[in-house]
Amino acid sequence: MSSSVVLAAKNITAGYGGHPAISDITVELRANEVLTLIGHNGAGKSTLLKCLFGLLESESGIVAVDGEDVTGQNARQISDRGVALVPEGRGIFPSLPVRDIFSLGMHASGVPKKEQADRIGWVLEILPAISEFMNRPAGNLSGGQQQMVSIGRALLNRPRILLMDEPSIGLAPKLFQDLLAPIRALQQREKLSILLVEQNVREALKISDRAVVMKSGSMIWEGEPAELEDNERLMELY
Ligand code: ATP
Repeated sequence: MSSSVVLAAKNITAGYGGHPAISDITVELRANEVLTLIGHNGAGKSTLLKCLFGLLESESGIVAVDGEDVTGQNARQISDRGVALVPEGRGIFPSLPVRDIFSLGMHASGVPKKEQADRIGWVLEILPAISEFMNRPAGNLSGGQQQMVSIGRALLNRPRILLMDEPSIGLAPKLFQDLLAPIRALQQREKLSILLVEQNVREALKISDRAVVMKSGSMIWEGEPAELEDNERLMELY
């Protein structure tokens, strides 16, 4: 595994209305790894993702993509550098057929029309189950299918770096397990670097190369999954 850093938060402090939600967080995502971010509700995981993706301005600190300072850039600019976000709660329009959600997503990201069919073909190759419900309104799909659509939409941008905010939310444990295998396969095949936020710790660790634990806006642990699993105190907490 290459150890070059593709996405970094350096000493980030950020919050809402003057109240910091995360303080002095430094996290580095390396090329071609799955890094899982663990922590209870309110630990600040989503806030960190928002800062990394240009959806929230930090009060201090630096965000870097491929070693280049992108602090203060917006989500469109960050996405143009090959970063995509699968948001918490999926963020898909329930009344629209999956096909239209994909078209709108590509239109919004400025994907040229002549490339759109190829991009959809590529996503369907990676997540073939989606082809069974391309013409159905997203609101009629199961939670697992909706999550796949949300991942598919992010992949249409052909990212190198994928940020995923709690893909297990609303999914039965079995469905989440079923989703993890394609995520890992995708990461290895396409050499993606994935920052995965999860509360479903044991399952997420199975596909992770490294993990970071956050508590009350601070980072309290960083290491490899096996070390975390050996740490009874932390495993009990999470
Ligand atoms: P969750 O799993 O519940 O999403 P999280 O670890 O992602 O938890 P954040 O959503 O980053 O945590 O929240 C960190 C803190 O910031 C919490 O205290 C939360 O209440 C607060 N917070 C989050 N979003 C907002 C917002 N839009 N306005 C005000 N406070 C917020």
